[in-house]
Amino acid sequence: MHQAGLMMDRPLLISAVIEHAAAQYGDVEVVSRETHGPLFRYTYRDCARRSRQLANALADLGLKPGDIVGSIAWNNHRHLEAYYGVSGSGMVIHTCNPRLHAQQLIYIINHAGQKAMLFDATFAPLIKGIAAHCPTVKTWICLSDAAHLPAIDGVADVRAYEDLIGPCSAQFNWPEFDENTGAALCYTSGTTGNPKGVLYSHRAIVLQAMAGCMPNVLSVSCRDTILPVVPMFHINAWCIPYGAPIAGAKLVLPGPRLDGESLYTLMEDEKVTLSAGVPSIWQGLIAYVEQKGLRFSTMRRTGVGGSAMPQALIAKFADTYQVEVRHGWGMTETTAVATMGTLTPRDLALPKEQQHAIVARQGKSLCGVEIKVVDAGGATLPRNGTSQGELMVRGPWILREYFKGERSPLQDGWFPTGDIATIDATGTMQIRDRTKDVIKSGGEWISSIDLESAVVAHPAVAMAAVIGVKHPQWDERPLMFIVCKPDQAVEKYELLAFLAERVAKWWLPDDIRFVDSLPVGGTGKVQKEELRRKYGGVFG
Ligand code: ADP
Repeated sequence: MHQAGLMMDRPLLISAVIEHAAAQYGDVEVVSRETHGPLFRYTYRDCARRSRQLANALADLGLKPGDIVGSIAWNNHRHLEAYYGVSGSGMVIHTCNPRLHAQQLIYIINHAGQKAMLFDATFAPLIKGIAAHCPTVKTWICLSDAAHLPAIDGVADVRAYEDLIGPCSAQFNWPEFDENTGAALCYTSGTTGNPKGVLYSHRAIVLQAMAGCMPNVLSVSCRDTILPVVPMFHINAWCIPYGAPIAGAKLVLPGPRLDGESLYTLMEDEKVTLSAGVPSIWQGLIAYVEQKGLRFSTMRRTGVGGSAMPQALIAKFADTYQVEVRHGWGMTETTAVATMGTLTPRDLALPKEQQHAIVARQGKSLCGVEIKVVDAGGATLPRNGTSQGELMVRGPWILREYFKGERSPLQDGWFPTGDIATIDATGTMQIRDRTKDVIKSGGEWISSIDLESAVVAHPAVAMAAVIGVKHPQWDERPLMFIVCKPDQAVEKYELLAFLAERVAKWWLPDDIRFVDSLPVGGTGKVQKEELRRKYGGVFG
């Protein structure tokens, strides 16, 4: 018989996170870009107060624990209050991705049975287009004051957030309930079939947020100022809106302005030490910084994930700008990052280029999460850095089943990610491809990610995508698409020669097409499905 532990059984609740920040780091600032332009600043104490006012306002609207309240919003202070006011009340915040197609938005709002919607003024045209198709949504709340409230034809009762919470008391007794209660809902972007809902529990979010602050992960402390570029409308902005208050770090929310110049200026003005975003955001930022000959005075670390960070960009951040890249992996189903890399003392003794190659991998699993790669029959493959298979993951912040899903996707208690990976002897995982993107050529696999990362190191290349195209002899062969940097050009043979020095000869693409742009989906990733539909013909 085991001995029962004799510690208190206190639930891990999101309301406790903001109250912790208010009590312990009450004067620490939250700086937020208003949707209409100016910067707004207040403290965690103010944020907690207004979150309680929102909780009272939601109750006054007749909303009850378990109800689903949506948001379509940028990273800003009102969205932050919604993260706490909604979940803290025992309701579920459904963060909707504004980049989804209108039909998908309508689908997820109805599927969720959402009762109210908080939205930024930017998205008023979107709301106008979908409102009539969302009968369960009874209240539309614009995250603004009355002066910035847009008129939306066909939506009778749009309330201004400030008017709604202004008269409400700042006293609210956060309810206590089971930590496994649903707190936030986010749908996958559904490149195949309908989007699927992932319902995060309070426990999952609090545990991930604490783990995310660890020194080997994002390393967040009360000495940091953190600017999450990763959107609060997708995968909880990697739980940074929870992690920053846990750590007592100053939080800078960039609102709608995500171009290189705006981000750089905000980073410098607010003395940002740490940031997080997808590789394409960092490409834009570095392009601006390079063009103007600037330097980062305080930024020292940046978390990157969502798609593979090319080694060339890692090198530029580290060697030219002394910014350390922390490369992580996660998906909607994993709450936020599940793996992240940090150079160990042994890695730091290696030549720079080898260090960058290690950072280009997606790191080690966070404590609490377990990873393995398996072959087609489900057998675990060795951790040798070369055996590739599907990445399986399990842990307290990994999905068990989809919201209103018919059956659990788990296999023997592990979540199959649909990503192909290797794990090496040090436990470092590398994503080689998605199962649907990998190119199967002559019985071997070619990693589209590796080809893309190799070619974007060429100075004329801005973006690249590689897809497999049917081939009569080899089954599939790679076809590469290139977007050049503005005012730059390069010939096909030059790129092939460039690649020949970096990848195996049989990996070289059978053709390279130069295009003006690539189709990008709801989470900022190239939509290879669309490329395959358009160009999936047969090489002869
Ligand atoms: P989707 O891309 O389908 O909208 P997610 O936003 O959940 O869904 O993306 C998760 C996927 O993104 C992962 O399964 C993986 O394929 C990819 N991904 C995430 N981080 C990385 C990374 N650092 N390197 C390569 N791929 C990544």
